[in-house]
Amino acid sequence: MSTYECPTCNKQITVGRDEDAPYRPFCSRRCKMVDLGRWLNGTYRISEPIKPQDLERDEAQDES
Ligand SMILES: [Zn+2]
Repeated sequence: MSTYECPTCNKQITVGRDEDAPYRPFCSRRCKMVDLGRWLNGTYRISEPIKPQDLERDEAQDES
């Protein structure tokens, strides 16, 4: 028997066997997806910065 804490909702979960906790360290599939969503959002922001070239292109269009 082991007890762990879900990182998403901080709920204490106690399971008899590791096989009984398929979403460990999360308490449920929902909490796992919430954490994954946070991670993906952070990665998206870092990998898609605004490029200076894109801003210059917008300014050029305003001149016409
Ligand atoms: Zn949870």
